[in-house]
Amino acid sequence: MKTLGSYLQDRWVTGKEPFATLVNPSTEEPLAQTSTAGLDLGAALDHARAQGGPALRELTFAQRGELLKAWSKALHAARDELIALAMQNGGNTRGDAKFDIDGGIATLAHYADLGAQLGGLQALRDGDAVQLGRTARYAGIHLWVPRDGVAVHINAFNFPAWGTAEKAACAILAGMPIISKPATSTALVAWRLSEIGAPLLPRGAFQFLCGSPGDLLDRLGPQDVVAFTGSSQTAGKLRDQLGRRGARLNVEADSLNAAVLGPDVAPGSASWDLFVSEVARDLTQKAGQKCTAVRRIFVPPDRLGDAQEALVDRLSQIRVGDPSRPEVTMGPVSTSDQLRDVRAGIQKLATEAQAVFGGDGTVQALAPEGKGYFVSPVLLVARDPAAARVMHQDEVFGPVATLAASSSPAELVRRGGGGLVCSVYSDDREFLRKCVLAIAPYHGRIYLGSEKVVGQTMGPGTVLPQLLHGGPGHAGGGEELGGLRGLQLYSQRVAVQGDRALLDAIAPAAEQRKT
Ligand code: NAP
Repeated sequence: MKTLGSYLQDRWVTGKEPFATLVNPSTEEPLAQTSTAGLDLGAALDHARAQGGPALRELTFAQRGELLKAWSKALHAARDELIALAMQNGGNTRGDAKFDIDGGIATLAHYADLGAQLGGLQALRDGDAVQLGRTARYAGIHLWVPRDGVAVHINAFNFPAWGTAEKAACAILAGMPIISKPATSTALVAWRLSEIGAPLLPRGAFQFLCGSPGDLLDRLGPQDVVAFTGSSQTAGKLRDQLGRRGARLNVEADSLNAAVLGPDVAPGSASWDLFVSEVARDLTQKAGQKCTAVRRIFVPPDRLGDAQEALVDRLSQIRVGDPSRPEVTMGPVSTSDQLRDVRAGIQKLATEAQAVFGGDGTVQALAPEGKGYFVSPVLLVARDPAAARVMHQDEVFGPVATLAASSSPAELVRRGGGGLVCSVYSDDREFLRKCVLAIAPYHGRIYLGSEKVVGQTMGPGTVLPQLLHGGPGHAGGGEELGGLRGLQLYSQRVAVQGDRALLDAIAPAAEQRKT
């Protein structure tokens, strides 16, 4: 069996016993093992601080962008190999694997382009200079400068490529060195992506820790950043652990994303078809293991029957099984723990909702008998959505969603306590205006599905580098991506005041720079 190493201090090293085993979730066959026991994480941090940080900070944005471009291109060249690994270790269908890997490649390329646009700058101005004295000579500016520490990236199991790449793109363009840690169970893709990328980056700029983080977080200080993606339970532990140390923490956690159907949308219309196809796709893509997946679906009471029928029809076309078989359209969940949690979550939802497709999740999968972590797509209908608790509070991280009739959906959407994305399907401007303003404080992103965007949109589940990713409350309170906004996590904002000519010499405004 392959042993996965960690890339620390510019070389590949392996930990010692005990090893964690990575398996194929369709067949339960062991694929690889990894361990970080005995690795010198203090030396890795020192190396990032002493070598990687200075090397990146010396570069202009355009030069940092070139690094990202090279990594993106190299991943593109290895795309088929990465897809195969994602199918084996993540239980991804080919389409699911492409979603993750192409998302990672595209995000690196997007930040490479932003770097090229910023050209020879090394610090970003935030807003315009302001006059502070009697004449224009005495002025103040705000700058974003790279933090003088290490960016520790901790990723969830569901997006080993995109999660690793999107965090790396922002940190490297901002000028911070990285120690990247994937979720152990699906680390194979992140490991290969790192093996490809590490030699393309300056010494110390990128390190990869394949397995447990050991005491890494206890060694962090106020100039360091932790960008975490995962469950709210783990996030809670990190908040306690890092709060005492002063390291900056960004959390991307659970989300009870909702889809809302407007009262104007009639069955058979273009907006209706968009709603049905996007909700069904979100429920089953990556076996529902997407932080942006729709978990709650709100429709007007007089549309409940039609919506249920249309969604059940879509779900009944899904073929669950081993994604290496061409007829399979939905793979397994990624681990046996995931399967246990999803089944328990369905049972809990069933206390206040009726399953109308998929029952308790048991499925006859197209896979070797008795093997694999398979679960059916499950659609439930809430008995009393206003009184329900579980559907608004518990994220079931699988192909599971609850449909509910409501004439005041915004009120119910807000009961999710803060989400990554909410999709609203309507062509009624007044309904959209009221709904968007009512739910906006509870979300990082709102997606409007209407007849005019049919054929152009990729749906609410696709995270775009141009737009913010994150959400308040339940979703963790974090912010990533959003174009150049994504660099702020890795930057210190500083006000500098003085003679305007000196300020311009230190940090030229974009229009003054020579690239
Ligand atoms: P998880 O169990 O919280 O693990 C997430 C990461 O944290 C893994 O890399 C894990 O490492 C690591 N970890 C666990 N305990 C740790 C500790 N004490 N100190 C430092 N690191 C620790 O979550 P998951 O099961 O991988 O992911 C599923 C969850 O992620 C879902 O709730 C989903 O909604 C959320 N998610 C959110 C987003 C978003 O952008 N908001 C995106 C994707 C997923 P090991 O694997 O080595 O244990």
